[in-house]
Amino acid sequence: MQENPVSENPYEIAQRQFDNAAKYLDLKAGIKAKLRLPKRELTVNFPVKMDDGSIKMFTGHRVQHSLARGPAKGGIRYHPDVTIDEVRALAMWMTWKCAVVGIPYGGAKGGVVCNPKVMSERELERLTRRYTSEIIMLIGPESDIPAPDVNTNAQTMAWIMDTYSMTKGYSVPAVVTGKPIEIGGSLGRREATGRGVMFTTRDALKHLGMPIEGARVVVQGFGNVGGIGAQLLQELGCTIIAVSDSQGGIYNPKGLDAEDVMRHKAETRTVVGYPGTDKITNEELLELDCEVLVPAALENEITQENADRIKARVIAEGANGPTTPEADDILFDKGIFVIPDVLANAGGVTVSYFEWVQGLQSFFWSEDEVNKNLEKIMVRAFQDVLAISQRREVNLRIAAYILAIDRVATATLLRGIYP
Ligand code: NAD
Repeated sequence: MQENPVSENPYEIAQRQFDNAAKYLDLKAGIKAKLRLPKRELTVNFPVKMDDGSIKMFTGHRVQHSLARGPAKGGIRYHPDVTIDEVRALAMWMTWKCAVVGIPYGGAKGGVVCNPKVMSERELERLTRRYTSEIIMLIGPESDIPAPDVNTNAQTMAWIMDTYSMTKGYSVPAVVTGKPIEIGGSLGRREATGRGVMFTTRDALKHLGMPIEGARVVVQGFGNVGGIGAQLLQELGCTIIAVSDSQGGIYNPKGLDAEDVMRHKAETRTVVGYPGTDKITNEELLELDCEVLVPAALENEITQENADRIKARVIAEGANGPTTPEADDILFDKGIFVIPDVLANAGGVTVSYFEWVQGLQSFFWSEDEVNKNLEKIMVRAFQDVLAISQRREVNLRIAAYILAIDRVATATLLRGIYP
């Protein structure tokens, strides 16, 4: 038993992060109260026919935290540990993320309690289609636009888009982002979150006067965000010394070839066992001596228990919510430069925005255009947040929240309180 148990409930953490930043802003109490609560929540229990003929019940959620700055935007997660509080936190983080990068969205998130690792492709399709029809009253290109998150991908988005379109009677590609290119996806979307992690890490190293060439990088969670982030950082000249997934980690101080590790993971479903590496645990991996640590798995990986042992100089939060508020304070005192999730991983939603715009206009951009526009937005957001952190003498998370909360509060006040 911990002596001073601190909550690791992501929703309580999200609200504490909000409170920590909101005190720097001169907000009316009522506005503060409004912004720290989700606007709308839907929980659905629904049956799915399994391959063996049985019928299994599943629970899913869709939470819209804010619509003040535009339609709700946020991914859908399939995971056995999904809870309504996790989805609430993730929805709230989406609101701040969209505001930090200045794209015209509010925040939402969805999740289904399931273990996709033990389900067949057909079962996942039936689960996705039924979940979509259960939340169909919320989603739509003008109201709430889902995207991939943990254990969902372009195929999942294709099923959601098709189910929504079947109900409408015509094709509505802009109802989701992160869909396959062949049905209106955007070039560069699959790589966008990792690319944003790369841009912000690059700018952080530049700001700190640290060389990018040879910077040692450790990545926890070698999925869409971590795997591609590692690959792009390697292309920039960094040395990837360790990566991990839910099965464990691998370490080689001389460096790994991220692309080849990706191939190995695609073949064997894990990074573990990659030739020429030592096996390490996820706990050991976080504490390795390195310049950059990229947590890109799940929430609450850096806590008050291990924060003091972290040796990285820069932490780029690929995952949402990997660091608890207590750990944040410890890292700040140690002089570790934390690029917060709402900034570091905002590349995904930014290119989702580009995908949505392209879908609505039926006019598609080149990959180069997508990447250049993403870089422009990420560089500007990084500079905006850095400037606030220097002016207010706060860490980058509080600075990012100050920027975001101010934007959402301003939109809320301009629109007024209905009626
Ligand atoms: P993913 O399913 O593609 O990959 C997740 C990876 O993390 C997998 O390799 C998995 O094995 C690993 N993992 C799971 N539990 C772990 C653990 N306890 N320790 C170490 N590794 C573990 O998911 P993703 O889309 O890459 O998302 C990862 C994180 O990034 C999540 O927090 C997600 O919310 C966030 N995120 C994703 C996007 C996006 O565009 N996909 C955008 C912004 C933020």
